[in-house]
Amino acid sequence: MTTVTQADTIKTLTTHYIDGAFVESHGREVMDIIKPTNGKVIARVTLGDEEDTRRAIAAAKRAFVEFSRTTKEERSRYLRQLHEAVSASIDDLTDVMIEEYGGVARFARLIVESGVTAFAAAEKGLQELPLKQSWGKTTVTLEPVGVAGLITAWNANALFICLKLASAVAAGCTVVIKPSEMSSLQTRVMVEALNAAGLPNGVYNMVTGLGTTVGAELVRNPDVAKVSFTGSVAVGETIMRDGAATMKRITLELGGKSPTIVLDDAALDKAIPSALILAFLNSGQACAAGTRLLVPKSRLDEVKRAIQEGMRAYTVGDPADPNIMVGPMVSQKQYQRVESYIRKGIEEGAEVLVGGEGRPKGLEAGYFVKPTVFVNVKNDMTIAQEEIFGPVLSVIAYDSEDEAIRIANDSKYGLHSAVMGTDLERARRVASQLRAGRVVINNMTDDPQAPWGGFKYSGVGREYGKYGIEAFLEPKAILE
Ligand code: NAD
Repeated sequence: MTTVTQADTIKTLTTHYIDGAFVESHGREVMDIIKPTNGKVIARVTLGDEEDTRRAIAAAKRAFVEFSRTTKEERSRYLRQLHEAVSASIDDLTDVMIEEYGGVARFARLIVESGVTAFAAAEKGLQELPLKQSWGKTTVTLEPVGVAGLITAWNANALFICLKLASAVAAGCTVVIKPSEMSSLQTRVMVEALNAAGLPNGVYNMVTGLGTTVGAELVRNPDVAKVSFTGSVAVGETIMRDGAATMKRITLELGGKSPTIVLDDAALDKAIPSALILAFLNSGQACAAGTRLLVPKSRLDEVKRAIQEGMRAYTVGDPADPNIMVGPMVSQKQYQRVESYIRKGIEEGAEVLVGGEGRPKGLEAGYFVKPTVFVNVKNDMTIAQEEIFGPVLSVIAYDSEDEAIRIANDSKYGLHSAVMGTDLERARRVASQLRAGRVVINNMTDDPQAPWGGFKYSGVGREYGKYGIEAFLEPKAILE
């Protein structure tokens, strides 16, 4: 157990951003923000309540009247302004992400940069999306759905805010953002950056608070037409159920247990380092993390050696150090969760190849775990089925390509997957049979115009590019 103490200077946050201004919170509950590298309280945040949320929704509703009538050109200009404003804060946003939740420096910057890119991508997506089409006596327009509630997870808060806001603005929606309460410091820096973009008052509003108060009000309020959520399956289910009462349009970006299939013709000196990057992305606290590594039985010994070699690079420690690959878990609770899964893996008969239980030597003060690789994992074991959200990789051996595909798809999730192989035609054939919203071949790569989202329990709907914008639009047909 890490002891919680106070840092020398503690920041205090007491405001939300409503109708173009920072306003004092009506909610009075105060939450501590604890630095995960040393367990010290670094900030105190006053949490918003239902009344703060209703004020923000009312501001968004007022702004919707004008904003929903803006043209493509006007919205494109706003997106460029947002892009410029957030670009100017990349360093500050990266630093606060490292401090507040221990994101490793190289990943934190990537996340923030991806957020900035989202505005440019939405502008491009908007240009490619016909908002009006006619044939015969029929005209179809795509109209903004209304006020949207944007609820984010903590693990890449800056990216989720930018991504959801970019799509909503492109569509002509106004929004109330409910960032993760665990990202309050990051959110403050983000709002200050967004504020510099000079959008009309009320187009975006931000209320920091708990999911069960601020989030729940967004889900139940009849003036909110759409909820776009990134987070856990459990909360996603609640949102879908509770949102039904007001017929909310819902986008859910949920968890994953993503497979990486190494085909038997793969060059292991490239495939294994790529697979490790996928697995230990953001210290394993990533929805897309490739946490099941499927390898041919015939090459298992080679794979084990390549993993042991590759894992030497996965140094654990101070996330501000650019050479560190794995930082702390975000909280004491997350630390305990990851440790309990490592214990469970051992109890169920998997073999620890690298890492194991307990804190790494010399890192007793924070929420650090050992990056862990299990071998001899069966796909029905808990560690192969449940999302751990930490640096734990399960290696599963298969006999044939068909078996690899079957194991990959034998999961309640279907968010992301990867195929590694030399014969590209074969890799594509395997990719086409995977039940996942996105499949990468041979490397972790991104395209901001490509849709992002999950099959099965990984979610409902898509984000990014024109797919993300469509999620904030309603088609309307006028027939003469
Ligand atoms: P979480 O579900 O606990 O919280 C997410 C957000 O929902 C927070 O802002 C929280 O305050 C809010 N919330 C909680 N209860 C609510 C309620 N009843 N009504 C409305 N809002 C409520 O998730 P987390 O711990 O912040 O994030 C980790 C999870 O997010 C993992 O499962 C991860 O896989 C998933 N995730 C998915 C993606 C994706 O793109 N698919 C990306 C990142 C994270």
